[in-house]
Amino acid sequence: MSGHDFSCAEKRQNKFGALAPEGNLPEAPSQPAPRTVTIIGGGVAGMSAACALAEAGYRVQLVERRGYLGGRASSYLHPGVNEVIDNCQHVLFGCCTNLIGFYKRISVDKKIHWTREMTMIEPGGRRSQLGPSSLPAPIHGLPKLLSAHAFTRADKIALARAFRAMMRPIPADSSESLSDWLRRHKQTPGAIERFWRLVIASALNADLDAISVPYAAKVIRELFMNSAQAGAMGMSSVPLSELYGSAKTFLEEHGSAIHFNTNVESAEFDKQASQWSIHTRTGTLVSEFLVIALPFEAIQKLLPHMPLVPHCEELAHQANSLTHWPICSVHLWFDRKITDLPHAVLLDREIHWMYNKSVLQPWRDTRGSYLELVQSASRAFAARERNEAIQQAIGELAEFFPQVKEAKLEKAALIKEVRATFGVPPGIDGVRPPTAAPWPNCFLAGDWIATGWPSTMESAARSGHQAADALSQNGRRRFLEADLEPQGLMKILTTRP
Ligand SMILES: Cc1cc2nc3c(=O)[nH]c(=O)nc-3n(C[C@H](O)[C@H](O)[C@H](O)COP(=O)(O)OP(=O)(O)OC[C@H]3O[C@@H](n4cnc5c(N)ncnc54)[C@H](O)[C@@H]3O)c2cc1C
Repeated sequence: MSGHDFSCAEKRQNKFGALAPEGNLPEAPSQPAPRTVTIIGGGVAGMSAACALAEAGYRVQLVERRGYLGGRASSYLHPGVNEVIDNCQHVLFGCCTNLIGFYKRISVDKKIHWTREMTMIEPGGRRSQLGPSSLPAPIHGLPKLLSAHAFTRADKIALARAFRAMMRPIPADSSESLSDWLRRHKQTPGAIERFWRLVIASALNADLDAISVPYAAKVIRELFMNSAQAGAMGMSSVPLSELYGSAKTFLEEHGSAIHFNTNVESAEFDKQASQWSIHTRTGTLVSEFLVIALPFEAIQKLLPHMPLVPHCEELAHQANSLTHWPICSVHLWFDRKITDLPHAVLLDREIHWMYNKSVLQPWRDTRGSYLELVQSASRAFAARERNEAIQQAIGELAEFFPQVKEAKLEKAALIKEVRATFGVPPGIDGVRPPTAAPWPNCFLAGDWIATGWPSTMESAARSGHQAADALSQNGRRRFLEADLEPQGLMKILTTRP
């Protein structure tokens, strides 16, 4: 959709929501006209804010630079392999209550494949299984951890000691890095390499010395201690763009407009009319409210073209303080089945995670298999040239699954997302801005806003719900979903940080 007359404030609706011609207006409506809001950015943050506000009766206009929704969480037809692939596997967990709430709102929650098991594989193929037992939280994962071959006795004792320490309150402003904390808590090389570096550093997508302890503790508590439900892992059974395409349907059914291929270049606020004008290359949009749901690098570009008000500089400083970390994914199509496992953690090599898309997305052509290998926080891997990176990944994969040596590789793709996520180093919370923007009637969303969550779809959905609450309810909570309650002994052993 594009054109010149974008202004939903200027158009008139009859009581059924259809646009009415100027000379043929129905009788004065009994209800006040819906309030109008423009949302910049069609990623998870913008979509979750837009859908919440549309449901609450706002007339929403969502403006997205690209031709589709999803932002960093999207898929596309890769011309080199002629397959629709996600720009990278995106996983969620049971504790992602806002993302799941958003999925329920747009009716895609049933499209998530859930599992509570995590298979760790050593080079050579020996497997260990992590996952819950019938014991109460936080010891529900203990039996499988104790029997895991991947860890020595000393590793297991060290991990148990660290988990216990992570249950104690950790000051939110702690300046200690995770690597220093692990040293202080006498973690063994095996525990560091095979658990902290592989599972936790890859969940937070940064090196151990660039991770703050409260964020690591949050991941440990939510994924391994609070409850088996919180730690369940979810993966979409359809491509991400199909999943998030349902937000478009939802918004259109709720009378919202989506302006694709529309880059917002500047915005100004008319104090007297209490109205925003949002300028794009193809026209100007007008609305009472504005939600800026952009990543920090896009805010950096937009800020010089926004009204100059106090606190703008602070926002600029905050946006300039964050650092990107890369994620790479190698997509491989083989002529035969390689494994029945839906996913696995691959130990001691550059490739970290294997996702078996043929199993997770069974509608795909199942004659052979499609595997996606993910390398988190992978600055060295991201620097590799395409063929070298793919050959490296295949060579390593064969160490875990010998069938790879016999199989014929039919096609392959390498996706490098150099600006995948922002890091969460010590002090990060001091530079994450609040939902309230420095301008009137304006709110910020995006995974980097102060949500307490690392750079994830959950943080984005949370930020969107925070913005919808702030805009519609003067800060009262309506859309922000409650966290899952800890279960079992965790109810009494800990209080939420
Ligand atoms: C490779 C990779 C792997 C990841 N893996 C996971 C994972 O497993 N689990 C997980 O939870 N998260 C994962 N993430 C992180 C997750 O994708 C992001 O945290 C989340 O999608 C951010 O959403 P957002 O809406 O805040 O920002 P974005 O998705 O960046 O959305 C912002 C939108 O704004 C648009 N835009 C920018 N400038 C303008 C403008 N001037 N005018 C109009 N529109 C504009 C952009 O086109 C974009 O669509 C991963 C990210 C990447 C890249």
